[in-house]
Amino acid sequence: MHHDLQPPAVLPCADQEDVWLAGVARNPSPNFNQRPEGVDVELLVIHNISLPPGEFSGNYIEQFFTNCLDHSYHPFFKEIEGIEVSAHLLVRRDGSLIQFVPLNQRAWHAGQSSFRGRKNCNDFSIGIELEGTDTCPYTDEQYAALAQVTGEIRQYYPKITTDNIAGHSEIAPGRKTDPGQAFDWARYRSQLKGI
Ligand SMILES: [Zn+2]
Repeated sequence: MHHDLQPPAVLPCADQEDVWLAGVARNPSPNFNQRPEGVDVELLVIHNISLPPGEFSGNYIEQFFTNCLDHSYHPFFKEIEGIEVSAHLLVRRDGSLIQFVPLNQRAWHAGQSSFRGRKNCNDFSIGIELEGTDTCPYTDEQYAALAQVTGEIRQYYPKITTDNIAGHSEIAPGRKTDPGQAFDWARYRSQLKGI
């Protein structure tokens, strides 16, 4: 009996390899799950966040996205206790990037949302948080880093055309206001052209 020549094994479909951006700091968040099968990534959602609101220091956003925030530290932190959210990326005030969720996975940033009639934007989008508020101008370093990383993301997901980049306020109107009036869309789009 010769068993050397086995028929090729039928392998289950391998999960897509996790996409972490090269050269970007990683802080893996448990707040993600798989995208629905067969769904393409075709939307980029721009957000802002600051913790505590209006303050740009410390690592509280990272702690929040990784469920490590000490909720006793600040009254606002009490209000967000138990909320499990994430984004794929955070752009800090100095332009440094932190990735929390592999790009191919479904991060929890959009919540109840709809883009051109299509609901549940988390399924088919990538979420980027800018450290900031709706009214405080974002930094030059943030615009530069955002344009750069958008270019990299588009190499993986070319369906993210300039028309398919939206603010959180646009996909969750009445519920969300970020990235706010402080975000200069014209500047971002023109920087994208240079990438
Ligand atoms: Zn948001």
